[in-house]
Amino acid sequence: MGYPDSYYAATASGADAFPPLTESTEVETCIIGGGYAGLSTALGLVERGHKDVVLIDAEGIGFGCSGRNGGFAFGGFSLHEHGLIKAVGKEKARELYGFTTEGIELIRERIGKYDIDCDAIWDGVLLCNWFKDESILTDHRRFMADSFGVELDYIAPDELRETVKSHRYNGALVEKNAFHFHPLKYALALAAEAAKQGARLYSNTPATQIKADGPIKEVHTPNGTIRAKRIVIACGGYLEGLYKPLARASLPISTYVMVTEPLGARRDDAFTCQHAIYDTRFAFDYYRPLVDGRIMWGGRVATNLTEPKNLRDLLYQDLLKVYPQMEGVKVDYAWQGWMSWSAHKMPQIGEERPGVWYAQAFGGHGVAATNVAGDMLAAAIAENDKRYRKLADRFGLTSTFGPLGKIGAEVTYQYYMMRDRLKE
Ligand SMILES: Cc1cc2nc3c(=O)[nH]c(=O)nc-3n(C[C@H](O)[C@H](O)[C@H](O)COP(=O)(O)OP(=O)(O)OC[C@H]3O[C@@H](n4cnc5c(N)ncnc54)[C@H](O)[C@@H]3O)c2cc1C
Repeated sequence: MGYPDSYYAATASGADAFPPLTESTEVETCIIGGGYAGLSTALGLVERGHKDVVLIDAEGIGFGCSGRNGGFAFGGFSLHEHGLIKAVGKEKARELYGFTTEGIELIRERIGKYDIDCDAIWDGVLLCNWFKDESILTDHRRFMADSFGVELDYIAPDELRETVKSHRYNGALVEKNAFHFHPLKYALALAAEAAKQGARLYSNTPATQIKADGPIKEVHTPNGTIRAKRIVIACGGYLEGLYKPLARASLPISTYVMVTEPLGARRDDAFTCQHAIYDTRFAFDYYRPLVDGRIMWGGRVATNLTEPKNLRDLLYQDLLKVYPQMEGVKVDYAWQGWMSWSAHKMPQIGEERPGVWYAQAFGGHGVAATNVAGDMLAAAIAENDKRYRKLADRFGLTSTFGPLGKIGAEVTYQYYMMRDRLKE
């Protein structure tokens, strides 16, 4: 079963419940991609009584970002809230942002309803201020309350240092309704529930070609062809050239995670709270405590998809910059994932032509958004619900300009990093 050598893969079970497809089949809806976008569409369909669903993944279920991410279920998109208002105006921005808080609630609800064991820790997410300027937090807090109706609690620098023992930070804001969890356990549980309710799911089944011109779509795989009335393409940053109109509109971008050895009481030398934590820089660190006393630490982005040889050390050095007292801890796992990015930094969902649906480009802020987007597509397919268009009509399949777009993304990233260093 194809998974990276990650902490999540080592601590989740149930992946072998999904065998490869072995023969051709016919179905109403074929979903390509077993990340949250595809899985939430599948579950949303069967929950609505639309049972004739096949989902395939080229590797294991949750092989992509959905089984490797930081586990933060928090509000917002990759496009920052200020950018969102600039793009669509205050009223619409508030509505779109609301989709992501709805996404958090949907995950919370499914965890409860289906009794999903995914190591969820409900304490919320801390946004720590990396810079000396304290007005960054007070301004952001006011802005989020006024523009989005989101109430964030403020923690003053001295109070913060009682639980988060780093001199890097200058206060924090708490997003209380956010939480963090084991992303692969959750993905596999969504898959198991969709299967229980009637969907057919297959792993190690890559779509090698899509024929989408006629009323019946054909999805070719190594061991058979799936003929479907409609398809949903949800391949994230792993799409490659599978379907050109989608490939032209998205770029794969790498980001990285490591997990320390179990630290026991030593974890308290760094932070004693149970929150997931990130900071106010453009390229922020993101980390959280795991249920077995380890620290999961993530950060950095790159357009180069090759995993750096010194990945463990890069992330370990990032940890030491914030918590020098962690010198000497062992890193047990490190891995990368390929996120899918659009030029406008917003998700792309919709119907590309009759019977060809898609959900991609959730970037680095996709846990909540994928879950709600998949459910919106399920409502569109099963009930002709048009709510997905609130997102789809404004943020379409804009070109990323291939290699030029990659250079542009790299330059933008370096520019923002430099801006953060100057601010520092
Ligand atoms: C390291 C990392 C940390 C992150 N941390 C966070 C976080 O803490 N919070 C947050 O909100 N977001 C985070 N993200 C982003 C978030 O994980 C993603 O936005 C989200 O999971 C994307 O889901 P998806 O379903 O669109 O794609 P994916 O989960 O990538 O799923 C795509 C699936 O499609 C399959 N596939 C591809 N091609 C084919 C094919 N030809 N045939 C069949 N199957 C195919 C792949 O195997 C894959 O399983 C992180 C991402 C990474 C990489």
